[in-house]
Amino acid sequence: MENKRIFNFSAGPSELPLEVLETAAKEMTNYNASGMGVMEMSHRSKVYDQIFKETEAKFRKVFAVPDNYKVLFLQGGATMQFAQIPMNLLTKNKKADYIVTGSFSGKAKQEAEKYGEINVAFSGKAEGFIRIPRQEELKLSPDADYVHYCDNNTIYGTKWDYIPETGNVPLVCDMSSCILSEPVDVSKFGLIYAGAQKNMGPAGLAVVIIREDLIGEPQPGTPVMLEYKTMAENDSMYNTPNTWAIYVLGLVLDWVEANGGTAGMNELAVKRSQMIYDYIEQSEGYYKNPNDEASRSKMNVVFRLPNEELEAKFVKESAAAGMSNLKGHRSAGGIRASIYNAMPVEGVEYLVDFMKKFKENNPV
Ligand SMILES: *Cc1c(COP(=O)(O)O)cnc(C)c1O
Repeated sequence: MENKRIFNFSAGPSELPLEVLETAAKEMTNYNASGMGVMEMSHRSKVYDQIFKETEAKFRKVFAVPDNYKVLFLQGGATMQFAQIPMNLLTKNKKADYIVTGSFSGKAKQEAEKYGEINVAFSGKAEGFIRIPRQEELKLSPDADYVHYCDNNTIYGTKWDYIPETGNVPLVCDMSSCILSEPVDVSKFGLIYAGAQKNMGPAGLAVVIIREDLIGEPQPGTPVMLEYKTMAENDSMYNTPNTWAIYVLGLVLDWVEANGGTAGMNELAVKRSQMIYDYIEQSEGYYKNPNDEASRSKMNVVFRLPNEELEAKFVKESAAAGMSNLKGHRSAGGIRASIYNAMPVEGVEYLVDFMKKFKENNPV
């Protein structure tokens, strides 16, 4: 194949805006006349300190983070948060509610069970994770230390279209695969977390936005690296942070802002996802999205073909046509097009065009 960039539908790590990669490449060996690249800098140096502070300030601005929240740049991905959250927040009644709408929220629940009493407020497992529950279906406990849910289910392609109401119980949300894709009222949450590699930058960085009053004494035995209070007191630099990923996040935030901020990202996400959903509807049942219409994701569009042989053929031929990673997750099967912020509209036009031709060439 010729050496050019292709349309990359990977669920994560996923594509980054070309402008971001080009800036990073240009600055790779000599950042801003410092005589060295960002990867080579001391995290305590003046020049890096400025990158770090500017990235945090940009994140606060773009994501509209209120002043009474801390923004932490941590390692271990979103999965580390599955443990870090209960270690730090399961400290009053040692009870929490988990809403299980997919694979990652299930893993989060499983990990939390090591640290306290976990109530499953809803599980979509028996239905095959095809929808998001309505508020009335949630069996919430008034004495829970927090309620945990996952906003966008990366594997099953579903998304919450509302923020659950939990009264005085803090709401904790995994936004790994939808952060920065739409405006969010952060004040409704106790804690929001996300791994960077879907919508924010390279892997190896997790962003945690935590309301200050929730930063307290963790459970006994919590490693110092996993104490929110230590990380908050040390501006995420108790040890060496992922300096490179934080720098690239800063470039991504510049790009998001230049393209209309989270509202602009949402407009594009609606446009891209609707193009695929609309064509699926028009395909006379050739392509099928299994999910409840109100629960459809704008970031991960999943669909099935008439049979598994055609799905395998679709994956193979789409790769040959210059599109990668369209194979669905091994636990869900089918096809998944992950269309995060950096996916150009032309990429989705190209995909829909391919879907039309594939249907014509492979009648059933
Ligand atoms: C990718 C993903 C994770 C896991 O992220 P890691 O950074 O690999 O730990 C967790 N939750 C959601 C919603 C994801 O999409």
